Amino acid sequence: AKNRGRAQAMMFSEEMHTRASSRLDLESQLARALDHNELRVYYQPIVDVSTEGVVGFEALVRWAHPIRGLISPLEFIPIAEQTGMIIPIGEWVLREALAQAQKWRTEIPGAAALSISVNFSVLQLQDPDFVAVVADALTRSGLAPTALHLEITESVMMNDIEAAAETLNALHALGVRLSLDDFGTGHASLGHLDRLPVQTIKIDRSFVGGLGGENPKAASIVQAIVNLARSLDLDVVAEGVETVEQLLDLRRIGARLAQGFLWSRPLPPQEIPQWLMRASG
Ligand code: C2E
Ligand code: CA
Ligand code: CA
Ligand code: CA
Repeated sequence: AKNRGRAQAMMFSEEMHTRASSRLDLESQLARALDHNELRVYYQPIVDVSTEGVVGFEALVRWAHPIRGLISPLEFIPIAEQTGMIIPIGEWVLREALAQAQKWRTEIPGAAALSISVNFSVLQLQDPDFVAVVADALTRSGLAPTALHLEITESVMMNDIEAAAETLNALHALGVRLSLDDFGTGHASLGHLDRLPVQTIKIDRSFVGGLGGENPKAASIVQAIVNLARSLDLDVVAEGVETVEQLLDLRRIGARLAQGFLWSRPLPPQEIPQWLMRASG
């Protein structure tokens, strides 16, 4: 038994070693991924709950790794945040998404009113150049500032809400719209609504997944968030809608916007024109 224990301990440490070294590999490879043109932006439609018409797209980054294939942002964004790479990566995603949105607006009939939502990290808020970078990216793209929705995850904003508010106010003054992402999963979400210039709440899919009869409590929570948003005059997007039953519940509850696999997974940009034509035809 003792030997077996030792063998297991060895295997365990080997596995840890493999994991640690693959993480180190990823870390150093991520530093070059931008220069090597390995990052991709995918787009997921956001739809009107009552008509199912498209109102905009959310930009979601992926890493087309030469050996491992497409790597999820859940795996490499935390690394990018720890190494500081999130600053150039975030700026690249923003410029890429704005250029793409402007291209669709001019090339696709009916796409002129579509918004583009871009995620950003709290670390970008601490970058003294962030507001200037957003302003410059907007000018270069030719897109109206009101077409850009910046999505911020509340759980990462906790540390310095005053500094965050200052930067967000400057972005708001540019005309950019701000969304509170993953609403309901962080801690001081209500305080953030009070202090930050946000126009939209995105309801986390952990609640949306309970709609459609799955979990009556989830429906009550979604209803409460929608009521709260209405009384604060905020827009609401329900995330992660996968079934018609969930959509019907959102209609009953009165949520205005939604996104999820029910309409589309995030798609590479070249597939969007065709998707839009099918969606409207
Ligand atoms: P998020 O901002 O909450 O994005 C929504 C995530 O839910 C996306 O995962 C999307 O693919 C997924 N999703 C959408 N609809 C459904 C559905 O119906 N069912 C299920 N199961 N999932 C759905 P993704 O693309 O893997 O992104 C994960 C997270 O990575 C994002 O969560 C966001 O926090 C972060 N992220 C993505 N792109 C960026 C970026 O450019 N910058 C930063 N800072 N973070 C990013
Ligand atoms: Ca988001
Ligand atoms: Ca979210
Ligand atoms: Ca999320």
